[in-house]
Amino acid sequence: MDCLFCKIVDGEVPSTKVYEDEYVYCFKDIDPIAPIHYLVIPKAHISGASEITEENSGLVAKVFEAAAKIAKAEGIENGFRIITNCGEDAGQTVKHLHFHLLAGVKMGWGKESVNAVE
Ligand code: 5GP
Ligand code: ZN
Repeated sequence: MDCLFCKIVDGEVPSTKVYEDEYVYCFKDIDPIAPIHYLVIPKAHISGASEITEENSGLVAKVFEAAAKIAKAEGIENGFRIITNCGEDAGQTVKHLHFHLLAGVKMGWGKESVNAVE
C-alpha cells in the first residue's frame, strides 16, 4: 500500500519523532500551523475517522492515551487542541488516520475555526 504515514512509521520516510510506543507514533508536522504541531497516529493503517470500527477503536484510545502523555512530557497542559480531518470537505490530505495536536498559542473557537473556503 502506498501510504505516506505507513512509510513514516516504518522509517522509510524520515520524520522528527516526538513519541512512540507499541501502537502509536507521534512526529512533528512538516508544515506547522501552531508553535507546537504534532501528528499522533496509530501505527496500524486506518484510512480515516470514518473507518473507525468496534474492532479497531482501541487504537484510537491508545492515541488519546499517548496524547495525554505527550502533553505532560512537553509541558503543554496549559491547553492543547486535537483535530482530525476526515474526507474531502474537511480537507484530509493523507489517508491514514491522524490527529493534529496543536498547542503553544491561545486559540480561538467559533465559526472562523472552520475556515470555510466556499
Ligand atoms: P490533513 O490535511 O490530512 O489533516 O493533515 C496532513 C498533515 O500532514 C498536514 O498538516 C501536513 O503538513 C502533514 N504532512 C504531509 N506530508 C508530511 C510529511 O512528509 N512529513 C510530515 N512530518 N508531515 C507531513
Ligand atoms: Zn497508512
